[in-house]
Amino acid sequence: MRELADGVHQLRGLPPNAINVYLVRDVLIDAATRRGERRVMRQIADSPPRVHALTHAHADHQGSSHAVCTRLGIPLWCGQGDVPAMETPGAVAALTPPTWQTFVQRHFWVGPPHPVARALVEGDEVAGFTVLETPGHSAGHLAYWRESDRVLIAGDVLTNINLYTGVTGLHEPLLAFTPDPKRNRASARRLAQLRPRVTCFGHGPPLRDPGKLADFVAALPD
Ligand SMILES: [Zn+2]
Repeated sequence: MRELADGVHQLRGLPPNAINVYLVRDVLIDAATRRGERRVMRQIADSPPRVHALTHAHADHQGSSHAVCTRLGIPLWCGQGDVPAMETPGAVAALTPPTWQTFVQRHFWVGPPHPVARALVEGDEVAGFTVLETPGHSAGHLAYWRESDRVLIAGDVLTNINLYTGVTGLHEPLLAFTPDPKRNRASARRLAQLRPRVTCFGHGPPLRDPGKLADFVAALPD
C-alpha cells in the first residue's frame, strides 16, 4: 500500500492503478473484481478494516465485497441508489447491456450479492470524509470528500487512465457502463468545483492538479 494523503492508502495492483482499492483509516473503499480477493485480503491483513464502503456497485468495485465482508465479519455500506444492485442476484450484470465491452465484467468480474448494512446518502460521514451523491455512472454512485486537506475519492465519475491503452489521462467513464452520461457530467462538474488537492480515482493514478481537472470538465459537452 502507498499513502496518498493522511490515512488514505492505495492498495497495490497489477497493472498498477488499473482497478483501485483504498484503505481510508479503518474503512475499505471498493473491493476490485471477484478475482481481486487475494490481493485485497493480503494487503489489509495487518490493518483490517472495520467497514467496507463502495463508490458504486459495479463489478470492478464490488467483485470481492461479499468475500471481504464475510471473511472479516464487517458491514457493507453503499449509496442508497445502488442498494438494489448490490443485494439482488444478477442485478449488477443486468445493469450493463450485453456488448463485447461488458462481457468480461458480466461473466468474470462480478461478485455475488451481499446485504447492505447502511445505505449512504449525501452528507453522511465515512472515515472523516463527507459523502457526496454523484449519480450518472450508477444510480447510487458516491464520492468521498475531505475538505480539511482537500482530498477527493471520486470513484468512476472520471477516470485518470485510458482503459484500453493504460496511458494516464482524464476520461469520462466508458459509455457502455454509464447509464446516464449527462447526469454523470453534472457530477463531474460538481467535483471539479471543489478544486481537490488530491483526486483518487477508481481507475488511474491520483491527480494532484485541480486545474487539470477543472479544464477537462470545462471542455465536456452538456
Ligand atoms: Zn470502475
